[in-house]
Amino acid sequence: METVTGHFGSVAPGGRSVIWAATGRFGGHSLPPFDELNLADYVGDEPGRVQRNRQVAAASIGLTANDLVLMQGVHGAHVVVVEQGSPGLPGAPGFDALVTKTPGVGLVALAADCVPIVLADVANQVIGAVHCGWRGLAAGVVPAALAQMHELGAEQVHAVIGPSICPNCYPVPPHRVLELTGALPASVAAAACPKFAGVEPELAVACIDVGAGVRAQLAESGVIAVTLAGCTAHSNGLFSYRRDGQTGRQGMLIRL
Ligand SMILES: [Zn+2]
Repeated sequence: METVTGHFGSVAPGGRSVIWAATGRFGGHSLPPFDELNLADYVGDEPGRVQRNRQVAAASIGLTANDLVLMQGVHGAHVVVVEQGSPGLPGAPGFDALVTKTPGVGLVALAADCVPIVLADVANQVIGAVHCGWRGLAAGVVPAALAQMHELGAEQVHAVIGPSICPNCYPVPPHRVLELTGALPASVAAAACPKFAGVEPELAVACIDVGAGVRAQLAESGVIAVTLAGCTAHSNGLFSYRRDGQTGRQGMLIRL
């Protein structure tokens, strides 16, 4: 997949819109096993190539690599509010969601099977980027990001959900499904564990659909979401940690 870009539908007073992009595997500078457009600096890739790739990704939303704020997620629910000149954030570990009202800052969520999400209230000029795997789903990182956006003045939020691993490619031990379903409201659990709900554990196929769980969480919060097609493990055009082990990360970017 080459990088795709889009605008959130509505336009703010004054004609401003919000631009987002989703990067894939193609169109970058990294060598195997990180080929080509790896955006992560914590997977063992050459830093110079990662920086050039970030330049490619940043250009897709009209920015430079130095304008990007990235996360090294820890599968929690910690949200950071990015302000002008936030120091030391690129690549810093410890959080899985970024929100901002600052124009010209590119928020980036990286993933390779987990779910990258971008969020926007265009009218109120509040945006967010979230990295969510099964732990983040259980921890509520998506509702936490939305709560922080609402604190910054967001009202009606729209979302674009990036490609993630499909449940057929993501079998897990039954205890993990029990752990996840035990942490989630019933509607979200049913979406995230589609072949498990209502079935005796020993008969169930234990798999997780994190993307569907995210969609259910967003719907419960009144967010209008669209999902980009594709399973990371099924698609050679996307990075998949489950499929390849050591590999790169694609990303979703958003800016005001
Ligand atoms: Zn799949």
